[in-house]
Amino acid sequence: NQDFGIEKSLSNLGIQQENLGVSTGGKYFANGDLLESFSPTDGKLIGKVTTASSADYDKVIETAKKAYLEFRQIPAPKRGELVRQFGLKLREYKDDLGKLVSYEMGKSLQEGLGEVQEMIDICDFAVGLSRQLHGYTMHSERPGHRMYEQYHPLGIIGIISAFNFPVAVWSWNTALAWICGNVTIWKPSEKAPLCGIACQNIIIEVLKENNLPEGISTMIVGDHKIGEKMVNDKNVALISFTGSTRVGRIVGTNVAQRFGKSILELGGNNAIIFTENADLNMSIIGAVFGAVGTAGQRCTSTRRLIIHESIFDDVKNRLVKAYGQIKIGNPLDENNHVGPLIDKQAVQQYLDSIEKCKKEGGNFVVEGGVLEGDDFSSGCYVKPCIAEVQNSYEIVQHETFAPILYIMKYKTLEEAIAMQNDVPQGLSSAIMTTDMRQAELFLSQNGSDCGIANVNIGTSGAEIGGAFGGEKETGGGRESGSDVWKYYMRRQTNTINYTDSLPLAQGIKFDL
Ligand code: NAD
Repeated sequence: NQDFGIEKSLSNLGIQQENLGVSTGGKYFANGDLLESFSPTDGKLIGKVTTASSADYDKVIETAKKAYLEFRQIPAPKRGELVRQFGLKLREYKDDLGKLVSYEMGKSLQEGLGEVQEMIDICDFAVGLSRQLHGYTMHSERPGHRMYEQYHPLGIIGIISAFNFPVAVWSWNTALAWICGNVTIWKPSEKAPLCGIACQNIIIEVLKENNLPEGISTMIVGDHKIGEKMVNDKNVALISFTGSTRVGRIVGTNVAQRFGKSILELGGNNAIIFTENADLNMSIIGAVFGAVGTAGQRCTSTRRLIIHESIFDDVKNRLVKAYGQIKIGNPLDENNHVGPLIDKQAVQQYLDSIEKCKKEGGNFVVEGGVLEGDDFSSGCYVKPCIAEVQNSYEIVQHETFAPILYIMKYKTLEEAIAMQNDVPQGLSSAIMTTDMRQAELFLSQNGSDCGIANVNIGTSGAEIGGAFGGEKETGGGRESGSDVWKYYMRRQTNTINYTDSLPLAQGIKFDL
């Protein structure tokens, strides 16, 4: 029944027992249903939140629209200054926010702090970027003409996020959206609404210190109903959606119907190939961390190991041994490796997947199960497990958001790559090898079909400097680093004639 300082952190972050879930930057308001946030770590009620009504949403959009007209006129490097200050503020709140992430979502404290560090990193990245929103210049085919392209903000950016990265995903989007001159509306996951309010409180401090208007950073707590309203609202120029493939399919289709833009960051089914040349000591660590970290609830969690037949038994034995050493328990206690699943519904899905796997012929070499006892009173703690399977099993083709690791054998690397690619999703992938030829084949056009392909590191834990996202049913979107900022802007080609005649393109003559 240790508190781990959580009460103090909640108070520092401005979280109360009863909260209003709508903010445009000034006083909170809300007139929708009541939502309760329970911690999966101890089953306790952390706080209640009144969600957004439809009228609340309309009010937020009106405020955001007004703010955009002002915000887009602030020069990009000045907007970068705002993001710089936000990064500084996040450093001040890192411990408190990391703790709240761990308590409300259930990931280990280290991972909660790591998530806040990602927020800080993307702010630093965005500050530099605010002076580098470059477009090309090109030579016109017409004499006395100049051509170039430039990028303008889009307007209101809608962010709908998943429970498993309850704070970082928002910042990946906002930091870029803001330096690009957009305003944002965020619907955090209804499974981690207090993380949303905490983040909004932090940015409000920065906005107030800079005398900026309400509407630049807005937030609405609510479930799928308010999410659907956002998705169908033509006032929202871009929807950045992070969540399941099931919901992403609906979101993508509806945004496309109204010719809006979307960034879709959906489910993964990530594999590591263990070649006969793998350095097994580090490969096992990479695989186990990837499979059990965040209790298997990362979009990049390692779900499949594709192992060369010559080392299969050795790898299996090492995995069984490693799983025997995993400590499961309260994620705020730094001695534990693995915390709980998000809720009892997730526990049921985990159990159903195990059953399904057994029915299809899966052989569990490490058994799963729900943990019971005082330390596990929330009912959300499960045992990470491992099953020997065939890649073609229906359950293996499906992303179960839980620590179930599927292992399978291969003979040739071509076969292993085909297995790795033979799932509907295409997010993260990795190969463990000390053979350069194998690594290069895996990274080539004949190799992994995923948005992320790694060599000698696992599938989870990406850095913010790269573009993050995946192919196929993962949705094709990219977030975070590289040139992803272009998604948040509209591109315009400009041609200027500085002569006194009007030559037409393609040599067309039009004399009057
Ligand atoms: P989810 O799809 O259940 O919910 C995600 C968000 O969508 C929530 O905020 C929810 O309220 C909202 N939503 C639900 N129905 C909606 C609708 N019809 N219209 C608009 N919004 C709607 O996902 P989850 O269980 O919170 O998160 C887990 C999933 O997210 C996993 O599949 C995971 O792989 C994926 N994920 C992907 C990435 C990535 O970058 N690719 C990152 C994190 C999580």
